[in-house]
Amino acid sequence: MKYDIPTAYSCKHLVNPRRSPLIPGILAVAFLLLTLVPVASIAQGISLVQNGQSDYQIVLPHEPDTQEIHAAKVLQDYLFRISGALLPLTHDNLPSTEKEILIGRTNRPETKSIDFKALKDEGLLIRTEAQKLLLAGGPKKGVLSAVYHFLEEELGCKKYTSQVSQLPSMKTIQLGSLDKVIIPVFTFRDVYYQDVYDPEFMDWHGLHSFGGKGSSPTEWGYWVHTFHNLLDPAEYGESNPEYFSFYDGHRHAGLIPSWDGSSVQPESQLCLSNPEVLEIVCENLAKAIEKKPEARYWSVSQNDNVRYCQCEHCAALDKKICSL
Ligand SMILES: [Zn+2]
Repeated sequence: MKYDIPTAYSCKHLVNPRRSPLIPGILAVAFLLLTLVPVASIAQGISLVQNGQSDYQIVLPHEPDTQEIHAAKVLQDYLFRISGALLPLTHDNLPSTEKEILIGRTNRPETKSIDFKALKDEGLLIRTEAQKLLLAGGPKKGVLSAVYHFLEEELGCKKYTSQVSQLPSMKTIQLGSLDKVIIPVFTFRDVYYQDVYDPEFMDWHGLHSFGGKGSSPTEWGYWVHTFHNLLDPAEYGESNPEYFSFYDGHRHAGLIPSWDGSSVQPESQLCLSNPEVLEIVCENLAKAIEKKPEARYWSVSQNDNVRYCQCEHCAALDKKICSL
C-alpha cells in the first residue's frame, strides 16, 4: 500500500515563510519569552531591606572562624550604615528560616552545595538561592573578600583611600539573582604604597604586604635585595674576598653605611661565576627555609646597588649572554 505524505506536514511547507502562518507566531512567542527573562530574574531576586526594615538575619556557622566572624560584622555594619536596618547575627544551630544571609561554612543545605576546594585560598562566592544570600570563600580571607565584593559591586560602595569612602543611602535594597565565583589569578598582590597598608583598605581590595602590614602575617621569607642575607660580607668578607665583586682593580667585600646612616649595607654584589658562591647561597637558603617553613616566597636577588662583579669570568659571561 502506498501512503502519501500530507502536504500540511511536509518540511517544505514549514520552512517557507511566505506560505506558513506559523512563522510569525513562533517569532511572537520567542519575542515574548525574551521579554519575560528580566521579569523572571527579578522574581528570583530578594528584598534584603524594605523601607529601612529587614526580615533577614546574618547566619554564621555554630563554631565560626575569625574570618567568618569578621566578615559577618563588616556586612552587618555596612548594611546598617547604608539602609538603617540592623540585621541580627545568629548561628546555624538555630532552625533555618526563609530569609537568611549565610556567611561561610554554615550547615545549611544551600552551603553544602559549595565546592570550597575549588575556591582555593582566597576565591570568593556570592550566590542567591531562593530567598537566601550566600557569601563564602577560601580559608585565607575569601569570605571577607566576598563581603567587600558584594558591598562594592552589588550595593555600590567604594573605598578610594584609607580615609575616603563612599556609601550609598538606600532604604530599600533589592537584589537580583546572583551567582558569582571569583578566584584571584595572582596569589600575592602588594601595591607598596603607604596608604594602602590600612587594614580595611587591604581587606577591601584583597591586598597583601610583604612586610606583614595589615591584618595578615607575611608569607615572605626573604623580600628583595637578599644576596647579603645568603652570603654575608660580615662573615665571609675577610676570609673569602673572592666571593664578592671585583672592580677598580680589587675585590670589594666590605660593608658601608646605608643612605641615611642608620645601618650598614654591602658595598657590592656577589661574584656569580664562582661555583662556591652558588653552593653557599643554596646551603644558606635551605637553612633559612628550614627555620621558617610557613613562608611561601623566597627572593634570591641582587643587593641594592649597581656594583656588579667585573672579574675575568663574570665579564666573559656578561659579554657572552648579557646586553650590558
Ligand atoms: Zn666575578
